[in-house]
Amino acid sequence: MSDGLRVRGLRVVFDGFAAVDGVDLDVPPGDIRFLIGPNGAGKTTLVDAVTGLVRASGSVRFGGQELLGRPVHRIARLGVGRTFQTATVFEELTVLQNLDIAAGAGRSALTLLRRRTQVPAAVTGALETIGLTAQRDRPAGTLAHGQKQWLEIGMLLVQDVRLLLLDEPVAGMSQDERDATGELIGVVARDRTVVVIEHDMDFLRRFARTVTVLHAGRVLSEGTVAQVQADPRVQEVYLGH
Ligand code: ADP
Repeated sequence: MSDGLRVRGLRVVFDGFAAVDGVDLDVPPGDIRFLIGPNGAGKTTLVDAVTGLVRASGSVRFGGQELLGRPVHRIARLGVGRTFQTATVFEELTVLQNLDIAAGAGRSALTLLRRRTQVPAAVTGALETIGLTAQRDRPAGTLAHGQKQWLEIGMLLVQDVRLLLLDEPVAGMSQDERDATGELIGVVARDRTVVVIEHDMDFLRRFARTVTVLHAGRVLSEGTVAQVQADPRVQEVYLGH
């Protein structure tokens, strides 16, 4: 069973400027919450605050634990993982080795890089989920753009991440890759909580359940894609073109 994310009064201030200015957000277990909003709305900063990359005030609870005030690695150990717009995989290592390293964080590099006769079940499962079983022995650097993003998601799955925060996962992807990513996110969310920063409205219409619109560091609107699109406040600041 996964846990929901509960954010209260979240505030992040840079040099006197509140990039996130009192955000409340509830993402129930198993939900996929899309975060949208114009550039500078505070989406990335919110994700940075949840994952411990920036100092924030307020409260961020996940799995019954307060995340604020903990260092990044402690938050990660509580089952919180994120991807970045540019996939961070080990390009020279194979897909399998990338997953192995992610799965075995803490084990010695030698153990991890030694040729395995048996692949751990978690790694096999992740390979299947991200659709890269046939590419398992290929260096990650030779993968297509979309495949690298999926590998990065796989690296979180093998770490038993229960809250995934994805930053523009379909940016730069082909239509087929977008479709596959939407389906992958749906599978991943079956027993995890997922937050996705995404601008692509076509993708949102197809795959988003609930959307939270941020503007100037605050929640402007929340609801289904149709609901937020019909919200005059949203049309004014974001969709009104
Ligand atoms: P979004 O992801 O919605 O485009 P960001 O969270 O990246 O927005 O940025 C929100 C605001 O905070 C912007 O005005 C941005 O310039 C500012 N900001 C983000 N990071 C920093 C930082 N490290 N120092 C100062 N200002 C920042």
